[in-house]
Formats: sequence, structure tokens, C-alpha cells
Amino acid sequence: PQPNPQVGAAVKAADRAHVFHSWSAQELIDPLAVAGAEGSYFWDYEGKRYLDFTSGLVFTNIGYQHPKVVAAIQEQAATLSTFAPAFAIEARSEAARLIAERTPGDLDKIFFTNGGAEAVENATRMARLHTGRPKILSAYRSYHGATSTAINLTGDPRRWPNDIGAAGVVHFWAPFLYRSPFHAENERQECERALQHLEDTIAFEGPATIAAVILETIPGTAGIMTPPPGYLAGVREICDRYGIVFVLDEVMAGFGRTGKWFAADHYDVTPDLMTFAKGVNSGYVPLGGVAISSEIAETFARRPYPGGLTYSGHPLACAAAVATINVMEEEGIVEQAARIGETVLGPGLRELAERHPSVGEVRGTGVFWALELVKDRETREPLVPYNAAGTDNAPMAAFGATAKAHGLWPFINMNRTHVVPPCNVTEGEAKEGLAVLDMALSIADEHTV
Ligand code: PLP
Repeated sequence: PQPNPQVGAAVKAADRAHVFHSWSAQELIDPLAVAGAEGSYFWDYEGKRYLDFTSGLVFTNIGYQHPKVVAAIQEQAATLSTFAPAFAIEARSEAARLIAERTPGDLDKIFFTNGGAEAVENATRMARLHTGRPKILSAYRSYHGATSTAINLTGDPRRWPNDIGAAGVVHFWAPFLYRSPFHAENERQECERALQHLEDTIAFEGPATIAAVILETIPGTAGIMTPPPGYLAGVREICDRYGIVFVLDEVMAGFGRTGKWFAADHYDVTPDLMTFAKGVNSGYVPLGGVAISSEIAETFARRPYPGGLTYSGHPLACAAAVATINVMEEEGIVEQAARIGETVLGPGLRELAERHPSVGEVRGTGVFWALELVKDRETREPLVPYNAAGTDNAPMAAFGATAKAHGLWPFINMNRTHVVPPCNVTEGEAKEGLAVLDMALSIADEHTV
């Protein structure tokens, strides 16, 4: 990267003057001006390079600037850069075919959106119309997006300022053994109690009032909690028993992140609706969608579906998806994610946990890992309080600053760091990142008891 601090200063000044950023107090942020990116790295205008262990917001599953995907977008722009959704367009047809061929079971119809939240909005709308019932059940410790229904379904504190109790949203506890809401001592207990809790919630809400249960197959931002064996199959069975639509949100976990095309493939479950976005085209052009079962598709076979978007299945986004999926096949990128998880990230993170008292738990699969940082391994007290801000958050801020100083851009959420590099991160890059994490964790260790 060529340093160009003057351009960097101008980019920053215009940003500060005019860009209104997500989730932020506008005067309290200091966004880094980014000059470029390639593969697993990006760099600033000073020429400082960072290894991106965040994949943006966990979406660059094939890394930045993959030449084949960039070329496909350029070609599509030259051929047909846009077209309205009511027409059959080659890039859209092909993207839908490639996605439907990979989604589990009979999820063979694809409704395209511009991102994940809109996918969740439409999946829940489909479930309500299909069942004629009003309520949607979702988990605490979840994130489903920032539009009105999606943020109210969300279980993390980003919901609170938006919490207008969206009509028909009910939260329940999903399994998370490390901080068990059921005081369970092992995975089998956690699974049984979580399923019983869901049954009880359904019984007391009234089964005939519930349209859908929505879960992230492996919750992402909320902590990468891989569900215990049997949990998702149990939810599937409960939904079937009560005629409830089962929605799996694979916006973050889908398209290779867990070392399989979809996280649902690890658990052998097929939902009725599955939402996706992010990795479908590595975020090169905004795209999301809902994969729909034949039964729900049938509901809208002779009755119009009352929803749509100007840019549903935008040709540039779909061309990027076609190229991304083909590149993932050709280059064995899903297998690469699985291999790096098994041979480098999993063992490497467990080894760090042995040496660093601040690491309470390591969990994950593929290129989807969380380190739970704690003050005290015995009590499991989080390194910073739930939803900490300001000085309360200082230990995590110090951890992050150390990583960045050594050229690693870490993903931090509350008391956790997530290790979520691109699916095609190399062994060398993964090891480089682990070495920096080692240094940053030494800073976190200073805050343990
Ligand atoms: N669902 C899940 C599981 C997510 O992780 C996200 C975003 O992080 C969303 C939905 C929302 O997606 P978007 O930000 O594209 O609207």
C-alpha cells in the first residue's frame, strides 16, 4: 500500500462533516479512513496494513477484491446494470438456481432482498400469512437485523432503544451451556431443558397464536453458541407438532462460514424458511433473501405474495452471487474454512486459552469462533459487564487497541472477541492473527483476578 496521508485526511474530514454512522454517537467515533483492501487484509492512508479477523461485518467470505467476482460485476454492469424485479433476468435466474441447489431439503424458491433484515421481515411475513397466526418466537442472545420487526425479534441490547414491543414478538431462551439459563451441568441437560422451556412457552402463549419460531442456526453476533446435539432437531419436531413455521436465520452462518454451505447442514435439519445475506456474494453488492419450502411456496402459488422491493434480485448483486458461489466451488473455499477451523484456528485458540487466564471458553467451527473473556474462570464473571459502555468497557478497549497496534483488526462484542476471518484465510494468515491475539490477550489477563 502506498501512503497518502493528505487524501486520507480529506476522506476523514468529509466523513466527519457529512456521514451519519450506524449505532453510534456521532461525535464520539473516530472511523479509520481505509485506502484499499485485498484478500484478508485492508490498509489505511498511512500505509498501515491490518489482517481483517472480522470479514467486514462477517460478510467477506471470499476476502476482498476477488478478481473473478470483480470481473463478473464489471461484465454485468456493461451488459445490463439494472432491471426491474418482475422480469426474468439471466443473472437473477442463475443466482436463484445456484442458491436453491445448495439450500437444504425442498427450500427451492428464492425471494431476493437487499440484505439480512429485509430477509427476516419477509420470512416472518410469509410465516404469518401461511399460518394465519400472529406471533413470532425468537431467542434472547440473538441478532436478526435493524428494521422494525427484525430489531424487535433481536434478543441483544440493540433492541432496547427500539423496543416498542412489536406486536406478536415473544422471546425465549435458547441453549448456551457456558451461561446456562437452565442451570444445566452438561449439554444433554441443556438441550432437554431448553426444549422443555420452548414447549412451555408455546403452551402458555397458545400454540394456535404462533406463526413461527426463528433461530440463528448458530447465533452469531450474540456469541457463536453452537447448539447442543439434538436441539435443532427437537425444535423442528415441536414446530411440526404445532403447525408452527420453523425459520432458520443463516444471514451470518451461511455460505461457508461454519465449514459447510449452511450451518443447518451440521445438524441435519431443514427449516421451512431460511434467510441469507452477507456471504451469498461476500457483500460485494448488497443482497439477501429467503429460501422457501415447497409447502409455503404453494400458499402463494395462486394468491399474490403481498411484499416486494424495487431492487429484489438486482442484476449486479445476483451476478456477484453467481461468481462468488462458482469461485467458492472452484477454489474449495467451504472445505478450506472447515480445514482451517479444524487444523489451525480451533487448536490454536484452545492453546491460547490454556495460557491466558482471561479466556473462559473457546467455541465455534470453521471460521466462526468466539473467545469468551472473563475476570475469573471459576465464577465466569465477564471481563466487562453485559452491555458495558465507557470506562466499564476499558479492558476490552485495551485488548482491541493492542491487537490493532500489532496489525490485527479484531471483532469485539461485549466481553467477547470473535475470530471470523474470510473462509479462504490461509494457514499463514490465521497463524499471524493468532500470534497477535496472544499479545492482546496478555493485556486482557491484566484485568483478571
Ligand atoms: N440476521 C443475522 C443472523 C445477522 O447476523 C444480521 C446482521 O449481522 C442480520 C440478520 C441483519 O442483516 P443486515 O445487516 O444485512 O440487514
